[in-house]
Amino acid sequence: MKRTGIFFLYLIGERLSDFPEELEGILNRDNISFYEAYYELTSTPEELLLSVHTPRVIEGVKRTPYYETALYSTGGTVQAGERIWRDEIDNAFVFTGTGDHHAGRDYFGGGCHFNGAGLAIENLRRQFGARRFAVLDTDSHHGDGTRDIFGHDADVLHVCFCSMNHDDGTNVDIAIPYSTSDEEYLSTLEAEFTPRIVDFKPEIIFWEFGYDATSGDYGSKGLSVDCHPGIANIVKKSAEKVCQGRMVAILCGGSRRDIARYCIPRIINCLSE
Ligand SMILES: [Zn+2]
Ligand SMILES: [Zn+2]
Repeated sequence: MKRTGIFFLYLIGERLSDFPEELEGILNRDNISFYEAYYELTSTPEELLLSVHTPRVIEGVKRTPYYETALYSTGGTVQAGERIWRDEIDNAFVFTGTGDHHAGRDYFGGGCHFNGAGLAIENLRRQFGARRFAVLDTDSHHGDGTRDIFGHDADVLHVCFCSMNHDDGTNVDIAIPYSTSDEEYLSTLEAEFTPRIVDFKPEIIFWEFGYDATSGDYGSKGLSVDCHPGIANIVKKSAEKVCQGRMVAILCGGSRRDIARYCIPRIINCLSE
């Protein structure tokens, strides 16, 4: 049994309109903590934003309708990291209204405004002296923003399942073809992710959980809805091997409400088991 934190905000759009109701039966468990925006979950401080993004990005996001959503989305990831470090929880699931992985140091777009994993990593370094981190990205698309932020950072392992192949040691891309079975995807994950994590020994794993690669969604690679809880299980096992189970699942791409409704409770169940 793990202590799992759920970080939630209400500014999260149509695809998540079944939440938090769909978490009934989960929220009342003793090992689940629910942190809600404006109460326990607070927004990301500007000083921290400036450690990852340029003033131009911050000013640009301020002019969009998503500024507040982005502050609380990334606030969830930052606080998940902090609460794990303080040993209040073991792992976390973060609901987001805007994504992370297309937001770089000096640009944003593609539904991503500020980079929550990037901010959480900078925050853990500054506040707790944490040193080594891993980011796994299973959104259908390349995590260009995360790569832009950490591409030259030897203490961050970035493993990205996308549409190209690349490996320079700490920056790894694995091409996933357009018609992939769950079995192929999960065995590739076991082969390409788990050994790298064991070698690299991060102190925490951030998982960009995008479900747009699911069959019928906009980045379909042919995966079924059951692939995502399968990914959660592999990431969790890897985290147990190397970093006392410390991991944060961050909601990334995906548009369909029915897929979110199916996958998210299952992933939270997996994390909290
Ligand atoms: Zn995507
Ligand atoms: Zn990639």
